[in-house]
Formats: sequence, C-alpha cells, structure tokens
Amino acid sequence: MSSLAAAGVTVADVDYVMCTHLHTDHIGWNTRLVDGRWVPTFPNARYLLPAEDDEFFSVHAGKAYEKSVLPVVEANQSERVSGGHMLGDYISLIPTPGHTPGHVSVLIKSNNAEAIITGDALHTTAQMAHPEWHFKYDMDAEQAEASRRHLLGKAAERNQRVLGSHFALPSIGCVRAKGDAFEWDAD
Ligand SMILES: [Zn+2]
Repeated sequence: MSSLAAAGVTVADVDYVMCTHLHTDHIGWNTRLVDGRWVPTFPNARYLLPAEDDEFFSVHAGKAYEKSVLPVVEANQSERVSGGHMLGDYISLIPTPGHTPGHVSVLIKSNNAEAIITGDALHTTAQMAHPEWHFKYDMDAEQAEASRRHLLGKAAERNQRVLGSHFALPSIGCVRAKGDAFEWDAD
C-alpha cells in the first residue's frame, strides 16, 4: 500500500487486480479489515480469478479464501478467467497449470518488447538449471514441470524479460537456453 501511495496511486485508481492463483501468499491484499469486516481493498477494481482455482478453492475453502477472496466475490467484483484471457491489447494470461489447477502467468507486450510475470510457475532461479526440481507445494508436480519448461522455453526464444514472483532481488532478468535446461541472467 505504501509503495502504491509512493507511486501516486490510490486504492480507488486501481481498475484490475489479477491473481495468478489463489494461494494465501498471492491473495493477501485483495481485501483489508475495516471495522472487523473483510472488504475489497480496491473498491473500483475487477478482480480476475483463474476459473479452475476459484472452483477448487471455493470448495476446499480455508481461512485464506474466506478472508481474501469470498468478500470480493460477494461484492460482485470478481470475474473467473482462463489462460488466453486478454486484458486490453497488451496484457494476456498464459496458462501455466500444475502449481495449482488454474495457475496463470501474465504476459505483457509493449512495442516489440515482452515481459512475463511468472507467478509460481517457478519459485527460484535454481529451477532454470533444474526445471525437473519439484516444488513442495506444486499440486500436480509433473504438470508444473511441463508448464515451467514451456514458460522458460518461450522466454528464451522470445527474449522476454522475466519477473519472478519469488526470486531473490533483483527479481528481473532474462533466460537463455542451455542444453535441455536454462540459465538466468539477472539485471
Ligand atoms: Zn503458490
């Protein structure tokens, strides 16, 4: 919130919130506690939720879903989306299932440049050298590995900037193919 304020953006200015998946650590600022009630943090935003994640986590609802997703759904501010969804001309969602059933990564295009926000398709740059290393919380580890290899392959081929959601800082750089794996070139 303080970073948004520093950039001159208020909660009322935000028009879209995109959740790559519905794990606890990726939905926390969807809502905030006001007078003992969880309410959407961004009153004018549409919240895009991966459809298969929302289906899964609304049934297997834990405290995190109840606090950070349900209030948004009940306020009619949510929209279920799938991989391939376009947000304007420059932003689209790339299906990268496996970590969760509906996990998506976010592709941003500007002029001839492209960038990809990984979400949790990978958790550490070590998985570039070892895409076969499974992460403990990948719900379908084999599918997650296939998604990871596909994402990294495209990033190398198209020279995309990669923004890793869980990488150590600096969390932005480029990926190069190396044998049947990849190497990381941090900015
Ligand atoms: Zn996750």
